[in-house]
Amino acid sequence: MPAPLKLVDTSPELPEAADAVVIGGGIVGVFAAYYLARRGMKVALVEKGRIGAEQSSRNWGWCRQQNRDAREMPMATKSLDLWERFAAESGEDTGFRRCGLLYLSNSEEELAGWARWRDFARTVGVTTHMLDSAQATERGRSTGKPWKGGVFSPTDGTADPASAAPAVARAILKLGGTVHQSCAARGIETEGGPLSGVVTEHGTIRTKTAVLAGGAWASSFCRQLGIRFPQAAIRSSILAVSPGAIGLPDALHTAAVSVTRRADGGYTLAISGRGRVDPTPQQLRFSPQFLPMFVKRWRSLAPGGLEGFRSGHETLARWRLDAPTPMERMRILDPAVDKATIRLTHSRALDLLPPLKNTSIAAAWAGYIDSTPDGVPGIGEIAAVPGFILAAGFSGHGFGIGPGAGHLIADIVTGNEPIVDPRPYHPDRFRKSAWGKVADF
Ligand SMILES: Cc1cc2nc3c(=O)[nH]c(=O)nc-3n(C[C@H](O)[C@H](O)[C@H](O)COP(=O)(O)OP(=O)(O)OC[C@H]3O[C@@H](n4cnc5c(N)ncnc54)[C@H](O)[C@@H]3O)c2cc1C
Repeated sequence: MPAPLKLVDTSPELPEAADAVVIGGGIVGVFAAYYLARRGMKVALVEKGRIGAEQSSRNWGWCRQQNRDAREMPMATKSLDLWERFAAESGEDTGFRRCGLLYLSNSEEELAGWARWRDFARTVGVTTHMLDSAQATERGRSTGKPWKGGVFSPTDGTADPASAAPAVARAILKLGGTVHQSCAARGIETEGGPLSGVVTEHGTIRTKTAVLAGGAWASSFCRQLGIRFPQAAIRSSILAVSPGAIGLPDALHTAAVSVTRRADGGYTLAISGRGRVDPTPQQLRFSPQFLPMFVKRWRSLAPGGLEGFRSGHETLARWRLDAPTPMERMRILDPAVDKATIRLTHSRALDLLPPLKNTSIAAAWAGYIDSTPDGVPGIGEIAAVPGFILAAGFSGHGFGIGPGAGHLIADIVTGNEPIVDPRPYHPDRFRKSAWGKVADF
């Protein structure tokens, strides 16, 4: 498990009715519920385990525009403002700081890619500084090595994964919303098409609006409703070291290893993009769509084991609404760490940053990163089930854009002017299977 996740109170009673029910208490679900509650809606947030306990507390904490896909850039920029505004509005602390992100490289090809991205960033008003060799070596002085170049993105930052989702959940409670932990949503009810309720393990909540922010569980949940959502989870293993290293950058990326300062003064260490693919029935089903992504990333992805089968998040099974579901059998996805990756990450980090030799390993953990075939989340109402909004598939970069995603979901629900153009995110783009068959939704 990652470092201690902050606790949140559970509301004493499940409401019989709500204006909106949000399923899933990760960063996306909590921000969606928060922005709905701010608009005066009666919101119930249901979480099968603990608020923030899956991906949203297992990540590095980076909130970045740097190197973002153009489709996600507006949401990334808005999110940085929203992280700041949230603290001022709610009085809650997510640990967000615009500390800037530092990227260092000795590869001409990588530097050329960053320079191209900088040119694009300028066209959308985002500032990022390319560093020449002298500047990169100076900024990276704690490595004690010369660097050909780098990038510093001053307006980006980090938030604290252990406190962010719980802080937002507390803000929901302050606004009069309710938060229900150990409460899995098993399914939904409809009345002649439109959604009319959310069935949970503790009873049904009557509502016309449900948001599924279920992370790695979203596809199997959608499958119960006949909705096709291609999703594949990649198991990523990372570690934290104790405080004690002086003079390191707050957030540093290199091809070998990346390092992020934690709220307790320790550091999170990880190898970007590295992970294991644990075969599951769902992965096999969607493999034609994911093949191009897996091929592109073949150097950093390795085959995994039976973890995915055991966890149950990618089952193809149909479940009943009146009996325990796979979500109740796996309250918190806490997959086994890949020990070889942890050893490699640690030794690369000690080699890159000698001050880390004054620290010891505090924790190591893994998380399932829920991905879509094009690496962009699916956010939008499903036409076949009016009132059902999908928001999942954040593909390894959803923590930083959690506030913007939550705001957009609230805009969709309330019919307000959307904070960003919602079209690039709409799940309709997943309707077509690899064989050209178009699903009904
Ligand atoms: C190792 C690692 C490093 C990462 N680094 C970064 C980073 O630096 N920056 C960044 O932006 N992103 C990063 N990410 C990705 C980021 O963590 C995710 O994209 C983001 O947290 C997704 O949030 P979410 O709310 O969609 O999903 P989650 O946080 O996974 O939350 C989904 C929640 O839904 C609940 N749930 C599911 N089904 C049900 C149900 N039926 N009923 C009730 N509850 C349900 C689950 O229990 C879970 O708590 C990283 C991820 C990992 C694993």
